[in-house]
Amino acid sequence: MIRAYKFLMRPTVGQTAALGEMLRDHCSLYNAALQERRDAYRHASKTSIKYGQQSAQLKEIRAFDPERQGRWSFSSQQATLRRLDKAFAAFFRRVKAGERPGCPRFRGVNWFDTVDFPKDGDGCRWNSTPHDPVTRVRLQGVGHVKVNQHRPVVGKVKTVSVKREGRRWYVILTAEQAEPEPLPATGSMVGIDMGIANFLADSNGHFVPNPRHGRKAVAKLEAAQRTLSRFPRVRRDKRAANHQRAVQRVADLHRKVRRQRLDYAHKTALDLVREHDFIAHEDLRIRNMLRAPAPKADPETPGSFLPNGASAKAGLNRSISDAGWGVFLTILHAKAESAGRDVIAVDPRNTSRTCPECGHVSAENRPTQETFHCVSCGHNAHADTVGALNVLRAGLVRRDANPA
Ligand SMILES: [Zn+2]
Repeated sequence: MIRAYKFLMRPTVGQTAALGEMLRDHCSLYNAALQERRDAYRHASKTSIKYGQQSAQLKEIRAFDPERQGRWSFSSQQATLRRLDKAFAAFFRRVKAGERPGCPRFRGVNWFDTVDFPKDGDGCRWNSTPHDPVTRVRLQGVGHVKVNQHRPVVGKVKTVSVKREGRRWYVILTAEQAEPEPLPATGSMVGIDMGIANFLADSNGHFVPNPRHGRKAVAKLEAAQRTLSRFPRVRRDKRAANHQRAVQRVADLHRKVRRQRLDYAHKTALDLVREHDFIAHEDLRIRNMLRAPAPKADPETPGSFLPNGASAKAGLNRSISDAGWGVFLTILHAKAESAGRDVIAVDPRNTSRTCPECGHVSAENRPTQETFHCVSCGHNAHADTVGALNVLRAGLVRRDANPA
């Protein structure tokens, strides 16, 4: 099993400059190789240049330009040429299929953000100072860069990549791990209902609250986006200092929300997978289709739409919780698989309107967002618990209909 890790690097000022130069030089190598392939393709002979031919020129290029191309790892340069090779392979595949794809494009230095090292120990070394309490990664031409290693790396490191995101630099590792042992069976089953008031409710009547920090971060993000929207839209290099700061602030807050959401999702999913053998949840894709207000076509001008009552603010809140659930479900499925647990997605239609006691289906069973009160048999419960119970039942029906 291959697992990826992403850690923030803490380069010194000098290392930051070197990292920028490393990216710039790999970008210009990419663009030069692209130019060569384009020229060959446009030539009357329609020659195509292969990766092997371009890779064979690397030695010369490095010898010719020792101050720039010669500084960096041979292997990371090969990986850059291979990336271009992949782009061309995809391009030719689509041409062959009769499509009209665009030729692979030149990358501006802002659109080229990653340098790959295909093998740890070749041009790079993860944990290059093992006796030091601070973790470092050594990169050829840059030095030993400090890394914020916030979790242990399990298994043998295979590949190392360096990525720029905004003003930050990350190191991304892939490590080979042994298959985890499945967890022992618990005999427990659960259904979950994902909500706005609570992150989720389960069929046993428990609630997992929405993270507190989530709402605070969203409020800050909204404010930052409002500030940003006051600046005119101009090209990146024409922005004033205040404008640049506003862009950076929005990006930082997005990153923070993303990281908090990820941590919360990991923790919640882990608890569920430890406790239950079988987990049923609503199918988010179906739920989103049901929930989105239908677009209203404007009869006066065909092809345009009238407002349908979906406000922008509700949109932001919803898109943030939807993203949270999407991340959570992805993590839940991955954890369940490695632990040998069953996870099933069910059609959420009527799960909030069906009485778990008598089976009566009615929208009136749910007088408010939180309460369920069956108009037929009088059953009373929290609406989300009822939803989760119905999800569990639907999941069991599905499982029994398609036994593994
Ligand atoms: Zn009932």
